[in-house]
Order: sequence, then C-alpha cells, then structure tokens
Amino acid sequence: MADLQPVRGTRDLIGEDQRRHQHVIDTARRIAVSYGFDEWSTPVFEDTRVFSRTLGETSDVVMKEMYTFDDRGGDSVTLRPEGTAGVCRALVTNGLTQSLPQKVFYAGPMFRYERPQKGRYRQFHQIGLELIGPAEPLADAEVIACGWDILTALGVAGDAVLEINTLGDTESRDAYRAALVEYFTAHKAALSKDSLERLERNPMRILDSKDEGDKRIVAGAPTIHAHLSEAASIFYETLKRHLLRFAVPFVENPQIVRGLDYYGHTAFEFVTGKLGSQGTVMAGGRYNGLVAEMGGPQTPAVGWAAGIERLGMLLEVPPAIAAAVAIIPVGDAAEGAAMDVLQSLRHAGQRAEMAYRGNLKRRLERANRIGARAAVILGEDDLARGVAQVKDLGTGSQEAVPLGEIAAYLSGRARPI
Ligand code: ATP
Ligand code: MG
Repeated sequence: MADLQPVRGTRDLIGEDQRRHQHVIDTARRIAVSYGFDEWSTPVFEDTRVFSRTLGETSDVVMKEMYTFDDRGGDSVTLRPEGTAGVCRALVTNGLTQSLPQKVFYAGPMFRYERPQKGRYRQFHQIGLELIGPAEPLADAEVIACGWDILTALGVAGDAVLEINTLGDTESRDAYRAALVEYFTAHKAALSKDSLERLERNPMRILDSKDEGDKRIVAGAPTIHAHLSEAASIFYETLKRHLLRFAVPFVENPQIVRGLDYYGHTAFEFVTGKLGSQGTVMAGGRYNGLVAEMGGPQTPAVGWAAGIERLGMLLEVPPAIAAAVAIIPVGDAAEGAAMDVLQSLRHAGQRAEMAYRGNLKRRLERANRIGARAAVILGEDDLARGVAQVKDLGTGSQEAVPLGEIAAYLSGRARPI
C-alpha cells in the first residue's frame, strides 16, 4: 500500500499547517460572534440542484468544477463547492424564512475540480458569513466591516486591499448587458472559446474570465456605472458612506463581478499581492434572489467567504502551542504519584505530558526537544518526603515543591516558570 498518495489537490493538515488553519477559524469565529453571528454547519454534500439551479449555469463552478455523482440510490449529489447555497437551502428547509434576520457564520471544507497550485486546491476550506434579511446597505457595510476586523485580528489586513463594486439592480443590469453585448461583439474575433459562449448566454460572466486574452479586452469594456438606476446608485453611495464611517479603507474596482450568478448590488473582494495570482482572500456581495430560487420567499441577503488556506499562508507568526510540562517518574514506585501530578496539571488547564521511556538524562533531553517549559522529576527519596523536583528547562534551575502544590507553582509564575 506504500504507493497510496493523497488525491491530487487535497492535503493533510498536520502540525503547523493545522494550527494556522485552526487559528484562522478561531479568530474569525470570535469576531463574528461579536457582530452577532451564530454558527451553522450544513452537510458537505447536497442535492445537485441546490448548486446547479442557483450558482448560474454559465459560472465556472457549475460548468467545470463541481464534484457531482450519482449515489447508490441513483440520486445526483454534489460535494459543496461553496457555502452560501447550502445555508439558503437550510434556511428554507428549517422554516426560518419568517425568523429574520438570520446571521450565520460557517467554517468547513469545500470541493472544486480545479487545477491545483499554490493557494488553489480541490478540497479547500472556507470561513463565511451570511446576513439574511436586511435589505439596507448598512447590512453590506457590517458584513464587510466584520471581514475587515477578522483580517485585522489575523494581522493580515495590512497586506489586503478591499475592492468594491456595484452590480446594480435588475434594471441596471439589463441596460448594462446590452452595452456589454455591443462591446464584446465588436471584439468577438479575439475572445476565448468560453467567452464566446458566455457572450451568448451571460455576457457579464466574460468580465470574470481568467483568460489572458479576454482580460485585455475586458480592460476596455464599459462599466456598469453609466447604466445604474437611481435606486442602485443611491444604494452604492450609501454603502461607501457607511464604510467610511466604519473606517474600513476601500478602492473601487468596476471590474469586480464575482464568479457566481446570484449577486446584485454590492460585490467586493479583499485582495493581496502576496499570493501571486491566487490573491483574493475574501470575496462576497449581496444576493437578494437566492433564497427565492431555493423555493423560499424573496429574501434579501449579503455575505462573503474567505479561503482559510490563503489566510493561513499570510499569517506572519505561526500560531504557537502551549509549552508542555514533562512528568518524569524515576522508578516504578513513582508511577502512581506521576499520574496524580499529570492529572492535577491537566485539570488546572496546563499542558502536561508523560515522559515515557529511558534514563533520566534521555527523558530530560526529549523534554527539551519537544519544547517543554518544565520537567517534574519524581524520585523515590523525594516522594518519601512528599515533594518532587521541578526543573525550569529555560533556566535550568530546580526546586523541590510539595506534590499537592505543583499545579499552582507552575501556573503562578510567568513563563518560563
Ligand atoms: P478565484 O478567483 O481565486 O478562483 P473564486 O471567485 O472562485 O476565486 P469564491 O467562490 O468567491 O472564489 O470563494 C471565496 C474564496 O475562497 C476565494 O477568495 C479564495 O480565497 C477561496 N477559494 C476559492 N477557490 C479556492 C480553491 N480552489 N482553493 C483554495 N481557496 C479557494
Ligand atoms: Mg474559482
């Protein structure tokens, strides 16, 4: 079995990788809670229609990235490529559409059949927020401000630029679509094959093309701004005013359209220059039509998702684990007392490990190697006096401490003890 490898585009999270990952989730969760969000977990696979109906037939995700298969009962299921559709499905199937607002935080794996490269995997992980109910631009601003605060708390906000745009309302988009069709038709000869198809089916999608040739044409394309309805324009101006009030810095980028079809009004991305072409770390927008497409009532909503791997890679300082205390019983008779000390430390919230094998010197060496901050050495003579030697592995100093006081002794001082 030695030739078994992880599936292309998947990776194991071990040691520092897992700690980076967990730190991103823990930090995001803490800040999302302060904004009033509550965590949901939805299944990692859904009825294929949850995604195919809602993400847009012409989106990259639906056209070429979904892991879709028939299960043994013959039902078509799909490993979720993103979190929003499942949350909206859950809102409807749990009868929560009349209990708004719902403020949802989630974290978990997503699956897309993409070409793996740095910052791009087939199983990756996202944190995300959905604020479902409010139609006001203040909701958009709150969701963005929460994202900004998370990036700040992670220490990566300095690397990230918030780019915002509006996709207008339906009226604005209809007018804009006509302008785009005219422009791209004039440049038809230079468009990629995918974009020719998009031109027929969904011309705005061309703005999101990753093809270099397409990108050159997109650079000269008209923007939506000349086609915004008055209502859409006011919405966008209000959002910008709120962002200023929340002191969230942003730039406007009229080319942001987002990869999925369900967005309208606000679209935004936090982009960093530090991850090459995988620079978007957090992205989202307003999606007022999605809950209705899932079979619920017309329900306004806004949210974002962020790639945990990409955020984890940006963390300057790898999250540390608490240094352990190594417990070293010398001789069989000391084992019982060692077990008592181990548990008393653990129950006091300290990290304590049994130093299993070898002579005293070996075990002290190993304690140093795993970065332990202290060793508790339980020798027979000391035990007879009711004490153990507590050795500070930072300074090398050592003191006899009564057995019952070891936990207090080790927590009562700044590290190292
Ligand atoms: P990209 O343009 O990089 O393909 P996207 O527009 O497809 O991103 P979204 O669907 O908006 O991405 O997902 C939100 C975030 O999830 C992205 O900004 C990114 O950080 C992360 N992400 C998306 N796809 C992947 C992937 N295959 N591997 C790792 N992270 C990903
Ligand atoms: Mg993508």
